[in-house]
Amino acid sequence: MRNIALQCLQRAKDLIVKDDEISAKYACLELRFCIEYITYSQLQTYIQEVPDETVKKWTPKQIISVLREADPNADKNHKISIGKQDAKGITAKTMKYLGEEQRFSLEWANTRHNALGNFLHAPTLSQIENYESPTKEKILKKANEVVAEIDKILSSPIFNVNFGVFYEFVCTFCNTKIKCRNKSISKELGIVCTSSRCKAVYDIVSEQNDDVVFKLREMEIICPSCDKSNFVGSHLIAYGNSFPCVHCGGKAEIQYALVPL
Ligand SMILES: [Zn+2]
Ligand SMILES: [Zn+2]
Repeated sequence: MRNIALQCLQRAKDLIVKDDEISAKYACLELRFCIEYITYSQLQTYIQEVPDETVKKWTPKQIISVLREADPNADKNHKISIGKQDAKGITAKTMKYLGEEQRFSLEWANTRHNALGNFLHAPTLSQIENYESPTKEKILKKANEVVAEIDKILSSPIFNVNFGVFYEFVCTFCNTKIKCRNKSISKELGIVCTSSRCKAVYDIVSEQNDDVVFKLREMEIICPSCDKSNFVGSHLIAYGNSFPCVHCGGKAEIQYALVPL
């Protein structure tokens, strides 16, 4: 993805130096592709941590929003240093600076992606009548601004860094391997299976050093046939789903009902 982005950037630069309006517009198209490929490249770095349906998304805004849910720092630059720790959990006394990974922010990617897109359609009748069609100078100014930022990102020798403390376990419903960053776990939302067909929710019930226990989030339902309680995955509580009772074998289906208050 990064190599394809580099090719787009080079084509954009070649078009910009032609210094005519048509080439400038095609440069904007290449730069939009470039922003998209860089975003896809970052998505690949987080692919195990995000819902599987993220690969169907295509706008930088959509994708980076999902990445930020997995890692709040996903759209920030990262300075990388290494050092030898005396003990686990203790910062090394001396650190060697390796460099900085450059990333664009959600806001930058979204505004520039949209701004470039504005040059990729015919001017409206209103723009033509009011002499407000984008000029070559305006298009090239925006293109050059984007090139400068993307140049920094693609020339960085450090890229697609993804550090963190992760938990990994297998979903008992669909066998998907779930990987989540410990700092991104919300107590309310739990850990959601990344398979779009499953979405089972897990909670951490105990955590001692490296020993972490996950439990499926369940809801109690009372069997209407025998009045005994059953527990089912909370992600399965949806209209039309039915459950067999573990006590009497009777089936119950979830339906909506109006009840008197
Ligand atoms: Zn699952
Ligand atoms: Zn029952």
